[in-house]
Amino acid sequence: MKLHEYQSKRIFAEYNVPIPQGDIATTPAEAREIAKRLDSPVVIKSQVLVGGRGKAGGVKLAKNPDEAESLADQILGMDIKGLTVEKVLVDPAADIKEEIYLGIVIDRAGQQPVIIASAEGGVEIEEVAKTNPEAIIRLPVDPQVGLSDYQARDIAFELGLRRAFINQFVRIIKGLYQAFINSDANLAEINPLVITGEDQLLAVDGKIVLDDSALFRHPNLAELRDIQEESTAEREARQAGLSYVKLDGEIGCMVNGAGLAMATMDIVKQYNGEPANFLDIGGGAKAEKVAAALRIILSDPKVKAVLFNIFGGITRCDEVAKGILEALDQVQTDIPMVARLVGTNEEEGRQILAAANFPSASSLGEAAKMAVALAKGA
Ligand code: GDP
Ligand code: MN
Repeated sequence: MKLHEYQSKRIFAEYNVPIPQGDIATTPAEAREIAKRLDSPVVIKSQVLVGGRGKAGGVKLAKNPDEAESLADQILGMDIKGLTVEKVLVDPAADIKEEIYLGIVIDRAGQQPVIIASAEGGVEIEEVAKTNPEAIIRLPVDPQVGLSDYQARDIAFELGLRRAFINQFVRIIKGLYQAFINSDANLAEINPLVITGEDQLLAVDGKIVLDDSALFRHPNLAELRDIQEESTAEREARQAGLSYVKLDGEIGCMVNGAGLAMATMDIVKQYNGEPANFLDIGGGAKAEKVAAALRIILSDPKVKAVLFNIFGGITRCDEVAKGILEALDQVQTDIPMVARLVGTNEEEGRQILAAANFPSASSLGEAAKMAVALAKGA
């Protein structure tokens, strides 16, 4: 789950990371009030859950409350990468001399957090990784030991920070690390961490991505969820109890079981198709759940064919077959489909589908081949 910049920075501040003392506005008038109260030039920052807001015109400097109001008016309601701006953060503008990147992610292969830093901050780190990989510093941290002062200092030296900043930097990176660990985050990032004209380090931007599997331990963080965080399809899937991940291909896949879903995606690829999604309807899914899953798959305009791969165990094939037909009653579509049902009540399931002229395949290979051909218009 992604947190907004203002939410992330408020968490960082609890760990002694210095942040600008701004506030959130949902109307231009509120932005004016905040700018007036801050009594300084401000920066108006769109709060949407994507990166690169600056480039997209969602971060603007205002010299006075009038300008703050008119810029907030421009930015509120703006569309940034498909998301509508509903809130802006009004921060006192920082006098930026240098921009540093500082982030912590989980290195899955190394099974530990890794600190990533670069003196080339401000821009997206993926860009730096492509154009100038040697400018990126990586430091794995043993989670049992935590981040030591000497490691923090090493990073400061590698970044080429002047002596005057070392202690500030050590405090910030240790605070960021503690925020990352204590909130069970997958990512905690400050980009940019700036050096100001007053020789202060300041976290101008912030981002936290929380581990969904650990959210139950953090009810206060779970409450911060913005419905914008998920697409409509992802939200519907979560509410229906389905595991759904949207991908970029054209074959919608509905499968029961995560491992089977992965195998199904592999087979689709083997027959030169691209899966449009990962979708696990789980064990014992009833007609209603299948219908919800089909609606979610078909809401993706890229989907050109749908492949059902159901291994009947606890999930009964006849229930799934009924679910498919029920869903087709509710959703008008001419997207072609094919089902492969095996296991508990497979005969009943196939008969239900056959009676409705719904194509079935006897093996997964055949089903995948058919789905790929159907997607290509065969
Ligand atoms: P992002 O584009 O979504 O990463 O948003 P950021 O908050 O990182 O802002 C993008 C860029 O805008 C930063 O890298 C800065 O160069 C600039 N910026 C942000 N806040 C300020 C500020 O307070 N003062 C100045 N001068 N520039 C700022
Ligand atoms: Mn940024």
